[in-house]
Amino acid sequence: MTTTFHNHIAGQWQPALGGARFEDRNPADERDLIGLFPDSGAEDVQVAVAAVGQAWPAWAAASPEVRANVLFKAADLMSARAEAIAAELTREEGKTLGEALNESRRIAANFRLYAGEALRLGGETYASEAGQMVLSLRQPVGVVAVITPWNFPLSMAARKIAPALAAGNGVIFKPSEVTPLMGQRLVEVLLDAGLPAGLLALVHGRGASVGQAITASRGIDALTFTGSYQVGRQIAAALSTDTRCQLEMGGKNATIVLGDADLDKAAAIIRRGAFGLTGQACTGTSRVLVARPLYAAMVEKLAETARGIRVGRGTAEGVGMGPVATAQQYEKVLNYIDIARAEGARVVTGGASLRESDPALAHGYFISPAVIDGVTPQSRLMKEEIFGPVVAICPFDDFDEATTLADDTEYGLAVSLVTNDLQKVIAFAQRTQHGIVKVNSPTGGVSLNAPFGGFKHSSNQAAKEQGGANVMDFYTRIKAVYLGG
Ligand code: NAD
Repeated sequence: MTTTFHNHIAGQWQPALGGARFEDRNPADERDLIGLFPDSGAEDVQVAVAAVGQAWPAWAAASPEVRANVLFKAADLMSARAEAIAAELTREEGKTLGEALNESRRIAANFRLYAGEALRLGGETYASEAGQMVLSLRQPVGVVAVITPWNFPLSMAARKIAPALAAGNGVIFKPSEVTPLMGQRLVEVLLDAGLPAGLLALVHGRGASVGQAITASRGIDALTFTGSYQVGRQIAAALSTDTRCQLEMGGKNATIVLGDADLDKAAAIIRRGAFGLTGQACTGTSRVLVARPLYAAMVEKLAETARGIRVGRGTAEGVGMGPVATAQQYEKVLNYIDIARAEGARVVTGGASLRESDPALAHGYFISPAVIDGVTPQSRLMKEEIFGPVVAICPFDDFDEATTLADDTEYGLAVSLVTNDLQKVIAFAQRTQHGIVKVNSPTGGVSLNAPFGGFKHSSNQAAKEQGGANVMDFYTRIKAVYLGG
């Protein structure tokens, strides 16, 4: 029997007011229907925003321990449910079980981190005249809208919802329509941990309906979005100017292999960056720039590495790469392989649909990992975000050219350098126009307590996600208070 899921609005589980539903299916086997979810509209958003608006002031007035304890409890529940949720994540998004477990286990750590922030939140005092005291008062913003993508459906949502709640805000959450079940599970964990009714609204649905209605709502005080540049730009244009807005968007991330690099090590780093999570990480490696003397050998090594990856259902033993997440992704990635050929590039390996190759893969969105050679810096494969298991490889002649090529895209999210040359590492870290710089590790894979965010089209750079002292800046606002004098 098909399970029908609901929105969570004003403390109640309820269908979309218009009654419509959409299907959630398994990308490894499109015949597998996971469930039906509310295909909500502007009317659901309106009710949800009003309910959150009513609920948050009491939460903000509660003691910091109350907020922290809910998040600590949510962390415990998440740990206890991590394996069950990971299995559902693989079924819904396609990533391998190991990748799914990494993600689901991380949520517990994330909740603990922000539980601590709830307790640590504070302001400053300032040198002032005799008889006067001047201080900063940090308060919640109010109603925070959270709109997230499907590729890390738990992490992207948790790293926004947890700090928002820790600071005393209420949240309206719209998960991606590709991964609604993960949105559901995250909200269940928080509700089971004792979150007050109405404080966190879950509104399922599509970007063009629910997402746009949230963006147009005058009842939200802040909006935090992770997704594509194309959608981020629309949100920025539509939002009211007094709504605080954080946009984390796409990337066209490069790994640079300098002349002193060990080929095996470099190939292992690129493999994780480019083909981990089926190439569907915002920080995934999609360009590889290689010192010319190593170039031919690197192309061969990378092709051999890619051929060694077993593609299949994320639940199967020994599988190194799952399907891409949707039919749209499948078409898009294969289309980029055609573009590569049309541009005169060489598909060294991969880039083929595996549907015909194996009856077990016939109903899923399986594509073999691709290595593309013979691209020019102007080629679309070097400029546009593909968001799939495709890596374009290109030689350079000197370090300056490598740094220029790395920055030669409209994005600026993550970049990595494979070398033991410390002076070049220092020069590169200072020069590059990327928000995340990795050395001898893949472009993807970040710490949950380090600042996260890109430059250029990868972010509106309003505030970093995560990070140190400023981690709660987006979710709070500061008043300067003058006492006496
Ligand atoms: P997307 O932009 O299509 O959708 C993201 C979210 O926005 C979804 O919930 C979607 O329903 C919603 N949405 C769509 N249209 C909308 C509209 N007009 N108004 C409001 N909301 C709308 O992105 P996606 O395909 O889900 O995810 C892939 C993209 O996300 C890639 O570009 C990837 O690089 C990016 N991403 C970035 C980061 C980061 O931290 N920088 C992390 C993960 C993914």
